[in-house]
Amino acid sequence: MLLALVLLASGVGSGPQCTGVYEQGALLACRTIPLASVSLSDETGLAASFKADAQGRFVLGLSRDAAPKMVLKACNAKWKCASRLLVITPHDYEIERIDGLPPGKVSTFSKTQLAHIRKSSARKKKAFATLGDVNGYLEGFAKPVQKARISGHFGAQRILNGKPKRPHMGMDFAVPKGTPIKAPAAGVVTLADDDLYFEGGTVFVDHGQGLVSVFMHMSKIDVEDGQQINKGEVLGQVGATGRATGPHLHWSLKWKNRYYVNPESALALDTTSLR
Ligand SMILES: [Zn+2]
Repeated sequence: MLLALVLLASGVGSGPQCTGVYEQGALLACRTIPLASVSLSDETGLAASFKADAQGRFVLGLSRDAAPKMVLKACNAKWKCASRLLVITPHDYEIERIDGLPPGKVSTFSKTQLAHIRKSSARKKKAFATLGDVNGYLEGFAKPVQKARISGHFGAQRILNGKPKRPHMGMDFAVPKGTPIKAPAAGVVTLADDDLYFEGGTVFVDHGQGLVSVFMHMSKIDVEDGQQINKGEVLGQVGATGRATGPHLHWSLKWKNRYYVNPESALALDTTSLR
């Protein structure tokens, strides 16, 4: 009923046009009217709201557990709106068990560790909230390391030392320590820290449209806060710092500081319709 009402309330054209794979965790490349107020909702309510850019472009992120039917609505300055129903395919997530982690990194923390965790968390929170007006996403995304086996997929349910944890919200590449990490797309560095508690050496790159890449467990960082990065530029090196069982690159992608999306969908995202 709610969906039907929203769909009937169309006023401006036929609603936003998006290309991409309509699947949980996916990114879609969309167009609507310039500076439209866009909202994404399901039957339980609003999932996200934001503005399209001056050319009517936006990249839409679907969450790991996005509902099978969602409504994407775009409104102009006079609140004339047009909606589109998105039918979203569920993703079959795998279950992943990791044993042998040092217990201190899983459940019990000392005072010093807790202080470190809090400081790390505050740094990340601030960096995620620092979203700039950049267009690095427009060239599309490339893998941050080449020819690597993917050792962990987005959305996998992790069981650490026998305890179910939050799902894995990134993509892991099995590569040796010291492998150069290349920026998957252009952007601006919003965090470069060699000592976050869980993440270890970490770099954030803001690619625009609220898309922020996170690289964790780095052994070396070659960039600094505020630095502009070209696509393919080296950010640092792969390591095993923070909560890592061995050297690998963890790459995650957050959308509009709301939720993580599947980096594999960024690699598949065709942005030509937005150029
Ligand atoms: Zn990972």
